[in-house]
Amino acid sequence: MTPTRRVFLRMAGSAAVATAAGAALGCAPAGAGRRRLAMAIDVRRCLEVDGCRACIDACHRAHNVPSIPDLAHEVKWIWKEPFERAFAVEDTDTMVAALRGRGVLVFCNHCDNPPCVRVCPTQATWRRDDGTVAIDEHRCIGCRYCVAACPYGSRSFNWVDPRPFVVQPTGDYPTRTRGVVEKCNLCEERVAAGRLPACVEACPDRALLFGDLRDPNSEIRRVLAERYAIRRKPELGTRPQVYYLI
Ligand code: SF4
Repeated sequence: MTPTRRVFLRMAGSAAVATAAGAALGCAPAGAGRRRLAMAIDVRRCLEVDGCRACIDACHRAHNVPSIPDLAHEVKWIWKEPFERAFAVEDTDTMVAALRGRGVLVFCNHCDNPPCVRVCPTQATWRRDDGTVAIDEHRCIGCRYCVAACPYGSRSFNWVDPRPFVVQPTGDYPTRTRGVVEKCNLCEERVAAGRLPACVEACPDRALLFGDLRDPNSEIRRVLAERYAIRRKPELGTRPQVYYLI
């Protein structure tokens, strides 16, 4: 059985598990309405361990993301950007002076109003009921409209066959082919199986939070109510659902 088919069957089989797992993940119980899954990053806590890549490596291992040395062909799901580039802060902004030049984690924001979804001519990318933005690589025709439409650079196009560049291939997630777009899927396959996203699980400092914003008892909602958080480029109206606690 191909990895694609195996993962699909596993996800279908685990649908029943997902409801029970929701409680463990801090998600709303069945019948409480649609979930709105989101992430929060405690930026200062994340930066405490200099050069830490635990979340990046875990994500890329879990999803067969290739390590392509040619930067023009690079594929990435989660990576670090200098703070001032990720947030386009003003030079005069003293609030974030300590963060200037530091690398902050960036990945798909699973926007509430995602321009990438609107431009796809084949509906190969869409918003799921839980608010996350998915891609079906089998429906992707490689037009790259979504890559151009995403204002965060969150999507990668496979210019070359990525398979030879997967360092530690896993059969738990499908590989991709040349000519399709990919990005962070907020670990839909793991969440459906009652697990946390790979990045959240791998973080040694608990700097990453994941959960359901519509669940009043979820940790992510409690923390966002108590801490000051910013989002990337909110002025664009995309309504990103990755929050940065600073
Ligand atoms: Fe789409 Fe980019 Fe928003 Fe992700 S960050 S949902 S790829 S617009």
